[in-house]
Amino acid sequence: MSFNSPVISEDDQKNHQGMKRNFEGLNSSDSQTTSMLQETPLENLHLAPQTVLERAPKQGRSKCPRCNSSRMFYCYTCYVPVETVPTGEIPVVKLPLKIDIIKHPNETDGKSTAVHAKLLAPEEVTIYTYPCIPDYEGMRHEIALIFPGPNSVSINDIPLCLQNKSKKKVGCDEDEDSSAEPVLKCAKTESGSESDLGEHQFHSRNAPLKRIVFIDSTWNQTNKIITDERLQGLLQIELKSRKTCFWRHQKGKPETYLSTIEAIYYFLVDYHKEFLKEKYEGQYDNLLFFFSFMYKLIKNAKSAGKD
Ligand SMILES: [Zn+2]
Repeated sequence: MSFNSPVISEDDQKNHQGMKRNFEGLNSSDSQTTSMLQETPLENLHLAPQTVLERAPKQGRSKCPRCNSSRMFYCYTCYVPVETVPTGEIPVVKLPLKIDIIKHPNETDGKSTAVHAKLLAPEEVTIYTYPCIPDYEGMRHEIALIFPGPNSVSINDIPLCLQNKSKKKVGCDEDEDSSAEPVLKCAKTESGSESDLGEHQFHSRNAPLKRIVFIDSTWNQTNKIITDERLQGLLQIELKSRKTCFWRHQKGKPETYLSTIEAIYYFLVDYHKEFLKEKYEGQYDNLLFFFSFMYKLIKNAKSAGKD
């Protein structure tokens, strides 16, 4: 599946033209925005109908059912959709592992895409606000952290690295809890089709990655979190290089510096293909349900502004 298709359908263009005036909060003045919107890698996604998102801005901002704040689409403090966006019209994405997102307290809630993950995969996603983070002691053989550090490995290397962590206690995890459950005991038997029992079973049995940790913050804040002693010894994964489509891209950062929801999405696509060894057929595309919609709004507003 290509993420770099430059094709944008005319229907999409038309559908979103009328919305730009009503849509508050996305009118970024970031000078980088225009260049970020040249390519459209989000066009070929398998998405649930976005009519609910097209409808909502026409009614203006709506109330959060929990805190009563006035919001567009969803409340970024309570992680719930607003009243004009019924939960039943938002897709639910089933993920193959748990996702913990560690958010820096200074990260502006309204600008973060981490909440998209919580809204779309509420069962598997948990958002923590630093310094309140879980203690992963004793679970390090089944957890990985997405971070492009000097010791980070690619997704292909996860099985071997986790295996090493549970058996040999290599690398920086000398303090690994020896009472941790043996990895074989944690292996989950998949009941998938017979044809893909082979390698999938092998990987699952040998290295069951159960949880993946993402950090949601600016680059400088990330460095503070990453050095927290509770995160030491976790396997660090570096994602394949991809360009961001985020309209609030951080100034001075390369285009490969992804927003949190993009990082989660691309990780899962690669994990599915390279770790689970299964064919990717858009299973996680709806994680970009909000992101791709907002992206199109901005894109269309920008192009209309040039006329
Ligand atoms: Zn709220």
